[in-house]
Amino acid sequence: MNERLAANLEAVERRIIRACSKAGRARESVRLVAVTKYASDAAVTSAYAAGLRDFGESRPQQLWRRAAQFPPDLRWHLIGHLQRNKVEKTLHSAALIHSVDSVRLLDEIARGAQRQRSPADVLIEVHLSGEEAKSGFAPHELTSLCPVWDSVNIHGLMTMAALQVPEECRPTFERLRRLRDDLSTRWGRPLPELSMGMSNDFEVAVEEGATLVRIGSSIFDGVP
Ligand SMILES: *Cc1c(COP(=O)(O)O)cnc(C)c1O
Repeated sequence: MNERLAANLEAVERRIIRACSKAGRARESVRLVAVTKYASDAAVTSAYAAGLRDFGESRPQQLWRRAAQFPPDLRWHLIGHLQRNKVEKTLHSAALIHSVDSVRLLDEIARGAQRQRSPADVLIEVHLSGEEAKSGFAPHELTSLCPVWDSVNIHGLMTMAALQVPEECRPTFERLRRLRDDLSTRWGRPLPELSMGMSNDFEVAVEEGATLVRIGSSIFDGVP
């Protein structure tokens, strides 16, 4: 196994464990998604050999390619923007789409899932920075969202905090958790997943309830 990757992974694991114990959570309640958008195929192979099974890609094409190339027990997570004309192929390859950012995309995913006779597993992306240009639902759009899609399982919410001092991301993560709680009450169904936290800020995200952390550079920096 690649030594640099082993050292990086050990450090990430230690940080997750420390954040979990600080928050009184079990380590198993947090899933590590290794973000491979800048990692080589060799680095993905090393990560697989090290036991990782959840991998995140931000570009659909790279996700399709790697899903076809690597063993079928890898779970591919799409974490970047999905255009509607790429829905069908992505549904074939992705275990979970984190980045559902519009009702039109939800409609398209529902149609694709119906055609494939296999329900789609998704998260709703929320932008909490107040910048209109950011992708994702604004909190007020979420309140009027009604889960009418039989072929789509919405498992929870995803957000990206603006790059800041980690502690300054806490209100964003806290807000996503509260939005999730509200939505879950309103819809009368559990929304167990919170996808939040990246290399820079995942400890704070774990303390605020993240169930999926998306970590790229802390795992793959310096790994050929
Ligand atoms: C790149 C990316 C990450 C990982 O970022 P790192 O800072 O490298 O850990 C997480 N989430 C999304 C949506 C990304 O695009």
